[in-house]
Amino acid sequence: MIELKNISKIYKTKNGEITAVKDVNLSIHQGEIFGIIGYSGAGKSTMIRLLNGLEKPTTGTVNVNGQEISSISGNKLRQARQKISMIFQHFNLLWSRTVADNIAFPLEIAGVPKSEREQRVKELIDLVGLSGRDLAYPSQLSGGQKQRVGIARALANNPEVLLCDEATSALDPETTDSILELLLDINKRLGLTIVLITHEMHVIRKICHRVAVMEAGQVVESGEVLQVFQNP
Ligand code: ADP
Ligand code: ADP
Repeated sequence: MIELKNISKIYKTKNGEITAVKDVNLSIHQGEIFGIIGYSGAGKSTMIRLLNGLEKPTTGTVNVNGQEISSISGNKLRQARQKISMIFQHFNLLWSRTVADNIAFPLEIAGVPKSEREQRVKELIDLVGLSGRDLAYPSQLSGGQKQRVGIARALANNPEVLLCDEATSALDPETTDSILELLLDINKRLGLTIVLITHEMHVIRKICHRVAVMEAGQVVESGEVLQVFQNP
């Protein structure tokens, strides 16, 4: 369960202050797929940075599964962040490493022994449908395959929450659908809580249970997808 209470984020710039997020209150339930939708500049990226502790709110608190991540730092924050994984629009893979070594990377950092690491990487490669591509390099993969590697890497350390930052925005519609189906499958199989930000209504309609609509830093509507976006 993720709880944002009275969240505001104000950036100070040389031209004054910018309120990126304003008075946001949200509860995201364990095991749901929650979407945050809005146009460019609405505050979505700021929200995701607040959720993974990369950014501190100016006011309010962010609580992820019992841990108030808005008020911790250093080792404590690093530890909490191991349970919060992320995938990206441009995949953020290591280009000089193979598929298997990209996925093994967070396991290496966590100090998982080699034999265990290899077993885990094999499972993850199967889970995301990349069997046989272990030794390929990212440059040899399609966009959709690259995102599958990103997903496998994000799942390596058994996170409690997966944050998706415009994860399908660089993909064509067909590939987008196959990645969304994979996320849906992972959500069902692992019971993983997924929070995604997007500017695409299609993404929300296809996999989200609930949604928050952001405009100029504020949540202007939230609830079940079917209720928020019902046709008149
Ligand atoms: P979105 O992801 O929906 O496009 P953002 O969270 O990136 O929205 O941005 C919301 C607002 O905050 C925008 O006006 C943006 O220019 C501003 N903003 C975002 N990050 C920073 C920053 N690091 N410094 C100053 N202003 C920022
Ligand atoms: P796709 O075409 O599937 O969307 P790209 O190959 O364009 O994926 O890669 C997405 C991102 O990765 C882009 O920001 C691009 O600049 C960067 N990128 C692609 N190939 C390399 C590479 N060999 N080394 C470093 N960055 C790369």
